Amino acid sequence: MSECLFCRIVAGEVLADTVAENDHAIAFRDINPAAPTHVLVIPRVHEPNVAAVASASPEALVGMFQLAAQVADDEAIAEDGYRLVANTGAAAHQTVFHAHVHVLGGRTMGWPPG
Ligand code: 5GP
Ligand code: ZN
Repeated sequence: MSECLFCRIVAGEVLADTVAENDHAIAFRDINPAAPTHVLVIPRVHEPNVAAVASASPEALVGMFQLAAQVADDEAIAEDGYRLVANTGAAAHQTVFHAHVHVLGGRTMGWPPG
């Protein structure tokens, strides 16, 4: 059994509130939402961050962003605008080291991010 939490979600060993999926990625609601819509998009393959996905599996990175766009449409946040965030490394507040993109929307975002 994998020790990676998101690999365990991919494998169905840990339950998640899945909202969409495609051949390369799975989208599920963040357990601790930071916005009215807060969905995580993760690749099915294990890579530690999006930079590593870009190197190892560019098609998976494309699949992640296609799924993020679909989630934004499905959640009706695409028209007003939404934010995609890929925290990369501990100093950027990455806490789960299986690549993921946050899809955040449903409220006005601040800038710059903290
Ligand atoms: P990071 O800080 O690495 O960019 O984001 C990791 C995200 O994963 C956090 O927003 C956190 O709330 C979320 N998270 C951590 N554990 C779980 C879990 O077991 N289920 C779900 N759905 N989200 C989780
Ligand atoms: Zn993993």
